[in-house]
Amino acid sequence: MSLSPDLYYSSIATVDLTELASRGVSALLVDLDNTLLPRDTSQLPPPALAFAGRVRDAGMKACLISNNWHKRVHSAACELGFDLVPRAGKPLPFAFLAGLRRLGAVRSQAAVIGDQLFTDILGGNALGMVTVLVRPLSSTDLPHTLLLRKLEGGILGDRVPLA
Ligand SMILES: [Mg+2]
Repeated sequence: MSLSPDLYYSSIATVDLTELASRGVSALLVDLDNTLLPRDTSQLPPPALAFAGRVRDAGMKACLISNNWHKRVHSAACELGFDLVPRAGKPLPFAFLAGLRRLGAVRSQAAVIGDQLFTDILGGNALGMVTVLVRPLSSTDLPHTLLLRKLEGGILGDRVPLA
């Protein structure tokens, strides 16, 4: 059980899809809150929409895997052109596996991209998928998430993003 991401970037804008492709990745299981969309907003920022464009241009497929279930999650998936598995219950494996089925992919072809070690990275590593950590977009988050962030800071230490 590992909390260590395979790749770490400063934001979704700098995630290197060519690097992922070189690792055999063609399917992306992507977190929404604070990865693509700041938690306190419902308007997707330009880098999120640009990411969706890069995914399409790279010939990859993507599915949002969100522990959230509000309307904004559905709107975001629609706007990004991504599939969606809401109420994911990450880090449990079920939603990740459901996402893979939606995309018609297997674990060895998939990467998990997210901002939290204890949900996105832990869950992705447990299933043997490539894991990609990005820094959270907003410091606004749920109280239990803020607590986990303190632990994450300790685990990541002085590790710096690749780009
Ligand atoms: Mg998140």
